[in-house]
Amino acid sequence: MSELPLILAVDEDPEALERITGELQRYARDYRVVCGPSTAAALNQLESMRERGAAVAIVLVARGTQELKGEDLLRRVHELHPHAKRALLIPWGGWANQETAEAIRTAMALGHIDYYALKPWSVPDELFHRLVSELLHEWRRANAPGRREITVIADPWSPSGYELRNLLARNGVPHAFHALDSDEGRQFLASCGKEGARVPVVLLPDGMALVDPGPADLAQHGTRMTTELDDPGAFDVVVVGAGPAGLAAAVYASSEGLRALVVERESIGGQAGSSARIRNYLGFSRGVSGAELAQRAYQQAWVFGTTFLLTRDVTGLCPDGAGHVVTISGGTEVEARSVVLAMGVSYRRLEIPALAALEGAGVFYGSSPSEARQFTGARVFVVGGANSAGQAAVHLSRYAAKVTLVVRGPSLAATMSQYLLEEIAGKDNVDVRLSTEIVDAAGDGRLESLTLRDESGSTTEAADALFILIGAQARTEWLPADVERDARGFLVTGSDYGTTVPGVFAIGDVRAGSVKRVASAVGEGSVVIQRVRSYLESTASLDARVS
Ligand SMILES: Cc1cc2nc3c(=O)[nH]c(=O)nc-3n(C[C@H](O)[C@H](O)[C@H](O)COP(=O)(O)OP(=O)(O)OC[C@H]3O[C@@H](n4cnc5c(N)ncnc54)[C@H](O)[C@@H]3O)c2cc1C
Repeated sequence: MSELPLILAVDEDPEALERITGELQRYARDYRVVCGPSTAAALNQLESMRERGAAVAIVLVARGTQELKGEDLLRRVHELHPHAKRALLIPWGGWANQETAEAIRTAMALGHIDYYALKPWSVPDELFHRLVSELLHEWRRANAPGRREITVIADPWSPSGYELRNLLARNGVPHAFHALDSDEGRQFLASCGKEGARVPVVLLPDGMALVDPGPADLAQHGTRMTTELDDPGAFDVVVVGAGPAGLAAAVYASSEGLRALVVERESIGGQAGSSARIRNYLGFSRGVSGAELAQRAYQQAWVFGTTFLLTRDVTGLCPDGAGHVVTISGGTEVEARSVVLAMGVSYRRLEIPALAALEGAGVFYGSSPSEARQFTGARVFVVGGANSAGQAAVHLSRYAAKVTLVVRGPSLAATMSQYLLEEIAGKDNVDVRLSTEIVDAAGDGRLESLTLRDESGSTTEAADALFILIGAQARTEWLPADVERDARGFLVTGSDYGTTVPGVFAIGDVRAGSVKRVASAVGEGSVVIQRVRSYLESTASLDARVS
């Protein structure tokens, strides 16, 4: 039988250690719980676990007075077991100690710990357990051993396999992945009679096997998300896009009794859904993964009664009496009394033909946190100089042997947040190349090398993956000409988020002049519904006067 994943706690204070040991017994059925006073002994144990490839779920360490300090042990844990969740244990009120506060902030900024944990005080201490449970949930979600609800068997380098895994991860669907030619992959294929398959196969909880499914098939059968409307009818508001702005609009619209439809072409969460950790969104002091935030918002809107239509594009908008007809890919048309455009932005492309040929096979636009593990020990490049590129580089550095951040400009100071600059500077395996551009790529079926150019000339370097995060563009070309845009295609609105077409509103990143952040997108999504209501009320009274 394989070894249970470890929960390790270290505290030299005997009383505190006894309480921690007692509280952690709650997890002893599914985890091996080890508690002790010595940081050096803990390090030995973690080193030997690393050597035999054993799983470590959580490490909790008090600062202490030993030669190896708690925060230094946690830094070593980060290196030895990058997937383990790590927290610095502090006594109640310990945050008021200047030195402790500084140790927590520094360790968090450098990514050495996930958070701090208050040592258990009462028995049971549910506040302590809330943190432990959250850390275990996050660990399980990213490190699920054994069987999962959905199993994907595909070539790890195939673009279609990547697309399917990305769709599941972005929509928060627990799944396991096996390579087509791995022992596990072959066993799963045999179990569903698909031996020898060379295309992606997805096994569903009811035993059904989908062979080479498209995103819509997977969404419909695999994730049970709505991809068709049973009863199109008329909606008070149709929201285009399920990023943070669209999701917030959905929650507020439905909670205020409006009949709301959200149409999303890819996955819920939009750009935010691809963020491994959003640290500046109010209320999430440890940060929150974009996928988790999106899932919560989706469920919140769903509970209030929002209808979602996923893996469908809105392709047209046409005035119709006092409302609009919204055309959706697949031939559906719905009546909308008002429309909220929340399409966000899409990544700009690097116009290099060799990269287009390798997209999904080592070349990725944006970064998918769930894919990072695939690049354990690999040589990874990230292009871009803004926060999104910095976050991707930091996240990938937990797995990759080396991450090279390629930046066209001469400095990162003006484009990246200070906390990310510090985190990158603290990573030995992240290398920043300023004033450098990618000019070519090569590979047979998957990316193998990249050519980089700087002031001193061009070099070709071995590369396993390239993540491109070089700014964004608004995709608004499908809208009618009378919806005003600025020179870059962003939608022009008044202070009420109304566009130049009555009853059509624009919010979030797609809006000209908006602050490109999760919180501002959510804020605009929440506020716009009040404007939508005023508009609907005014047209209703107009209707009443006309009739
Ligand atoms: C990697 C990364 C990390 C980030 N980290 C942070 C962070 O830490 N903190 C922070 O504040 N901000 C962060 N941001 C920025 C933040 O994610 C965005 O500002 C925010 O997501 C904008 O929300 P939005 O809803 O306006 O648009 P988006 O998130 O872009 O969502 C728009 C949605 O609309 C869909 N869509 C577009 N066109 C159509 C159509 N025609 N039909 C149907 N659907 C359509 C898209 O598929 C998408 O899902 C990050 C961005 C990235 C890329």
